[in-house]
Amino acid sequence: MLKVAKFGGSSVAGAEQFAKVKNIVESDSARRVVIVSAAGKRNEDDHKITDLLYLCHAHIQYGVSCDEITDKIEARFEEIKKNLDLKYDIKKEFEVFKERLTKDVSVDEIVSRGEYFTGRLMAEYLGFQFVDAADCFFFGLDGQIDREKTDSAIKEALERYQKILIPGFYGKLPSGRIKIMSRGGSDISGAIAAAALKADVYENWTDVSGILMADPRIVEDPKPIARLTYAELRELSFMGASVLHEESILPVREKGIALNIRNTNEPKHTGTMIVDSIEEQCEADKPITGIAGRKNFSIITVTKRNININETLRQALDIFSRYKVSIEHINLGLDSFAVVASTKAMGDSVYDIASDIKKTCRPDRVEIQEGLALVAAVGRKMTFRPGTSGRLFKALGENGVNIRIIAQGADELSIIVGVENEQFETAIKVLYEGFTG
Ligand code: ASP
Repeated sequence: MLKVAKFGGSSVAGAEQFAKVKNIVESDSARRVVIVSAAGKRNEDDHKITDLLYLCHAHIQYGVSCDEITDKIEARFEEIKKNLDLKYDIKKEFEVFKERLTKDVSVDEIVSRGEYFTGRLMAEYLGFQFVDAADCFFFGLDGQIDREKTDSAIKEALERYQKILIPGFYGKLPSGRIKIMSRGGSDISGAIAAAALKADVYENWTDVSGILMADPRIVEDPKPIARLTYAELRELSFMGASVLHEESILPVREKGIALNIRNTNEPKHTGTMIVDSIEEQCEADKPITGIAGRKNFSIITVTKRNININETLRQALDIFSRYKVSIEHINLGLDSFAVVASTKAMGDSVYDIASDIKKTCRPDRVEIQEGLALVAAVGRKMTFRPGTSGRLFKALGENGVNIRIIAQGADELSIIVGVENEQFETAIKVLYEGFTG
């Protein structure tokens, strides 16, 4: 049994958190590969080391001294070292790092040091071999991870050392320079390592006990989701539930590896297990796995008597593509269609799009309405099960939520309703209460 355990910034924010990580790692001998983020915030007013490093880079570019910031960063690492009685010579390595802080050093190199130093300290504390991400995560010339080369380097490292710690978030370019991933990228590092090693489970340790059924800023104390499928996770993430870095899902999903989201501060909680498929007895009264949504969409409605729908819709879609606007939904009427897209993504192009549609499609009318929110009820158990949408619409109707758009995915995994922005929170609450209570 092999588990790859990735610990996020809040899980490694200070000595106390390091101790929790050690307990977790030592409580299961299958946890032989650890990936860490850079130390994150210890409290609301604190700063993430990564953010401080970005700030250093900005200072250097503007020719302003960043000594105050580097002192702050060094003090954070020194404190961890001191409290845990570690030997790693952070002072010496940090000196070398500071000497490199000139205008020529890349932002990627600077920012990657958050994971690097956190990883150094954690490796010693756990008694794991530190393996630099620059020696096992390789980017190709296209800027993407070279999976073949990376996979074999990670496999080799584990064979050689048995228990390894790799800092997340960065790797090396063919030129030898450091390259970082996008923000939150340690999730990707962990997923790639898990896939390379064909791990049994990829554990993602964070500060919440798994994925919640709804946004806790809207619903009070929503229940966590114990199990869900990758397909459901994709629907929920697409509709706004932010849990993991999007790109971290594919590597493990491809290899059929289960992904377990766990809470470092509540290690007994089993969190959320994400798998490819779930065999189960359906609970007829609980068909919904989770509810998510996003605000601020616009609807562009095109009306034309005796419309040739194929031709006119194709023309309109070409126009959206030309303006690089991705479409969320299309609703078809007899003599009209409505296209839904993010208001922000369209920006001011919305007027050019409408005017191009007028010129090309020669409709009777083009209307633009803003302020639409999309809310999705996602659940594998609603697939081919009559009655769910009826219940859903009834609950919304009874609570005065007007539905402007209805869409159901072809795989029946989600039902999406479009409501006024102002009714977004109510819609989510009503659905949560109606389907979980
Ligand atoms: N430290 C990086 C960030 O804050 C990467 C990560 O945490 O995954 O985005």
